[in-house]
Order: sequence, then C-alpha cells, then structure tokens
Amino acid sequence: MDSSRFLSSHAAELKPSGIRKFFDLAANMDGVISLGVGEPDFVTSWNIREACILSLENGYTSYSANAGLYELREEISAYLKRKFRTVYSPANEILVTVGASQALDLAFRAVLNPGDEVIIPEPCFVAYGPLVKLAGGIPVYLPSDLNSGFKTLPSQIEKAVTEKTKAVLFCSPSNPTGSSYTKKELERIAETIQKHDLLAVSDEIYAELTYDEEFISMAELHGMKERTIVISGFSKGFAMTGWRLGYAAAPDRILQAMLKIHQYSMMCAPTMSQHAALEALRNGEDDVQRMKTDYRRRRNYFVKTLNEAGYPCQMPGGAFYAFPSIEYSGLSSEEFAEQLLLEEKVAVVPGNVFGPSGEGHVRCSYASSLSQLEEALKRMSAFMKRRQGLQSK
Ligand code: PMP
Repeated sequence: MDSSRFLSSHAAELKPSGIRKFFDLAANMDGVISLGVGEPDFVTSWNIREACILSLENGYTSYSANAGLYELREEISAYLKRKFRTVYSPANEILVTVGASQALDLAFRAVLNPGDEVIIPEPCFVAYGPLVKLAGGIPVYLPSDLNSGFKTLPSQIEKAVTEKTKAVLFCSPSNPTGSSYTKKELERIAETIQKHDLLAVSDEIYAELTYDEEFISMAELHGMKERTIVISGFSKGFAMTGWRLGYAAAPDRILQAMLKIHQYSMMCAPTMSQHAALEALRNGEDDVQRMKTDYRRRRNYFVKTLNEAGYPCQMPGGAFYAFPSIEYSGLSSEEFAEQLLLEEKVAVVPGNVFGPSGEGHVRCSYASSLSQLEEALKRMSAFMKRRQGLQSK
C-alpha cells in the first residue's frame, strides 16, 4: 500500500538535505577523510560532561520550566552582556531551546503569516528555507559570490523588499562560507532593515568563532534590539552538538509567542543538558579560547594550502568552513564531490546544496586534526592535477 497519500503537501514537497546523500555514500566506504560534517571534532570538555553526570546523580531527571532553568537563563543573560554588550531579561526575553535549530523554527512560526516573505542571503545553512516554508512563509533568496566575499549588500535587500517582506534572516559568521561581516557592513544592513521596518532573525551560532575581528551582534547595533531575534546555542563554540541545546533572545512579546509554541511542541529542553550548559557558561571560557586558537591555526594552514593546490579560496573570518572554488576542475560541484569521494576518499559538500550561488564551490570543514587536513589536501591536490591533465588533453 502506498502510504504517501497520507502525507501533508508541506512534507511531501520538502527535499531531503543534500548533505545527507554524501554522508551516506561516505559511511559505506573505508579510509574516508570527512571534511563534510558541520561540527567540532573536539569532545565536550570534561567539566561540562561531569556537570551532566552530577545532575543525573542528583536525580534531576524531570522537566524544567518551559523557558528553561531560571539559573541557566540568568547565566545566558550575563554571558550575552559580558560578551556582546546586549541586555536581556532572564525572566521574559530568553528561551532555552533544543538546539539553535529549534530556536529558528520557533522564530519563524511565531512571526510569519501565510505568504509572508523572508529575505535569505545564500549560500546558506540548509534549514532556513524549509523552516520558513513549514511556517507558511516564502523564502526570498539573495545571491552572492566570491567577488563580494559572499556577503549581502544592503542594495540587494532594498531591491528584494516587497509589501510581503517580514524579516531578513542573517548569519555571520556564515555556514557554509565562513564569511564574517564587519561592524560597518552590519550597520549598513541594520539601517536598511530599519528603513523598511523589518525584523532581523540573526543566527549567531558561530559568535564564539571569529578569528580576525571581534564579533558584533546584530542586536547590539543602534535601534536593532527591539527588532531582532538572536538565535544561538552551545553546539559550535562549546563543542556540544549532541547535547541539543540552544537559545533565543528576543523582545518580550516575540519571545513569549515563541514560548507558547515551545510549551506545546517541546515542553522544555533536556534538563541534564541544561545543567551541562550552566557549567559551560560558568567555567568554559578557557576551553572555548583553546579550541578557537586551534581552529585559527588549522584555518590558516588549510586555506593557504588550498590556494596553492589550485583551489582559489577566500580567507574565512569565522566558523570552521572553507568554501573554495573548484572551477579549475571543470566539474560541477556535485560531480566534483562525488568523484573526489570515489577516487580520493575525501568527503566534502557540494556548494549547490546551500543555494544556487554555491555552485562552483565546495564546503570543507577544517574542524579536523592537522594530520587529517594534511592528508586530505594531498589527495585534493592530486585530484586537481589529474583533472587539469585530463582537461588539457
Ligand atoms: N545555524 C547554523 C548556521 C548552523 O550551521 C547550524 C548547525 N550546522 C545550526 C544553526 C544548528 O545548530 P544546533 O546544533 O544548535 O541546532
């Protein structure tokens, strides 16, 4: 019996994430070096794991408050103030979620009416468009390219605004390009958002991982706090992807709407993960800095060597991704990723899964050991030489 007739049109129309396909291919092969996954290669620091164990020993196995442990919201509030100069009340402006993923989902569901448009610069994290659609909205993608450092210009936002535009989704540092906006660039985007009376949904999950410039939150810019939903979490900076813990910080009325949906759909984030996150915020700073120093070193080595191996690549300002051009291979990004995997056993993600502007590029995560990166680059260099040899024949 074909059970697909029971599916909603929303679910039926969703396309599976393009990243998955390559994971599945790579999982069935031996000796693959994966630069495909979007997560730290570090294990969560021991003191954080221990805090979770202690929480279980103490029998904290029940639900927490819907918005999250009050203590944790206080700690998040103090952290945001200390690090990003933004002031949020733990009582009504912070919501602890199941990863930044759930915070994004709640944000769109809380603010979008059917047919509302959300402007999304691409290439971008694969979940934005589908989440906007599931919330009844329409994603309006803005292209970018290497010439602009894969950054969106305020003039592009201007042109894309219609009567239906509700929000601009913004992500810096970016997945998949690693691009990081300067304060000046952010201010100009913020001005455009204010001029058209729009909301900013600011994905700041990589806030801890900027290498050249200080991170600036969209919400700390003049006039932005009251029209920004900050999305963040513990997955990247604290190496806690599996703990599924994130948060949103937003003006009271928006946050309360998100909380209502959260109460019914999720109830609360996992209590033991919340205890771990408390420890991360109280005593995790040294480890965050240690990991960041390591990523910076890997970034410098990886991007320099990529360029030398025939892959033009900008120096990414943040996150842990490089987004090199593969134009000299003469292949599309899907062909490139598939052939590189089959011939050299290196897994990367084709750029087109992040949006049409990603075509001609691949995403490589450099959150791998230096020795793995070295071997991967050797193989990528050999692959490119072979491709260029083939093309010149
Ligand atoms: N936003 C971006 C830009 C991401 O790259 C990711 C994870 N890949 C997320 C959000 C989701 O993170 P989390 O694990 O907190 O759900």
